[in-house]
Amino acid sequence: MNDAPTHEWMNPERATMALYRMEEFADKTNTLGFLKGIYPQINAVTFDRTLFCPGSSEQLSDVGCVRVGKNRVRLNIENVFADETGKIFHSVDPKHHKRLLKLADNAATGDPVEINVNPNHRDAIAQAHSSEHLIANAVETLTDGRLYFESGGTLDERGYHKFIGEQIKNLEDLRLAIQKMISEIRGTSMPRNIVFSENGDRRVGFGDMNPTRCEGTHVPFANLTPRITVDNVHPLLQNGAKKLVVVSSTYRNQIQL
Ligand SMILES: [Zn+2]
Repeated sequence: MNDAPTHEWMNPERATMALYRMEEFADKTNTLGFLKGIYPQINAVTFDRTLFCPGSSEQLSDVGCVRVGKNRVRLNIENVFADETGKIFHSVDPKHHKRLLKLADNAATGDPVEINVNPNHRDAIAQAHSSEHLIANAVETLTDGRLYFESGGTLDERGYHKFIGEQIKNLEDLRLAIQKMISEIRGTSMPRNIVFSENGDRRVGFGDMNPTRCEGTHVPFANLTPRITVDNVHPLLQNGAKKLVVVSSTYRNQIQL
């Protein structure tokens, strides 16, 4: 594991991601950058750097606003996504499409941009997403890795966490053990731990938890995650694979912003 990456070794497009990837910026919600591109066809803008965490299968994207150029033209940002090269596009509120068209005529690459992430939205998604780490860590630890998060931790719309692997016999005992372990971790002030592997993968955990590959945003300490209730744990046979579903209704409620 290396220290936090510098911009130099990164793919230049990935440099726009560099700010939010590092721990010192993980709690920051505003900064200054420069305009890089305007894409009227897809109603989006790019900057030389960003604090907006793009959406993924793991969590919703940040939202907020930016002010572009000397006239500080405000554009509301309603979604942020990364393309396959890592370039981060900021989708502009359709109500501001005319402003974007004007900027396309008047603004230039290198114009200053004020970047403002909505802190309440950031907190809500970071809390909800951090809960996933705690649930996944509890299941994986309690089953010695025999059950692990399916496809990196996708949560379906019902608030179900799906794990794949060897079935456990006593599901109620497992549910209680998961609940107990999550409550214990939430009772500590274990700090968020962000490390980078040599190939640039960002890995995140809390305290001495095994850090898992993740590009999301997280609360700075485990005790800042919301209270999590594990309602139900049940087996599922899907596409020939034995799965375990952990139902956490508190998580589902939490993500409703
Ligand atoms: Zn994460």
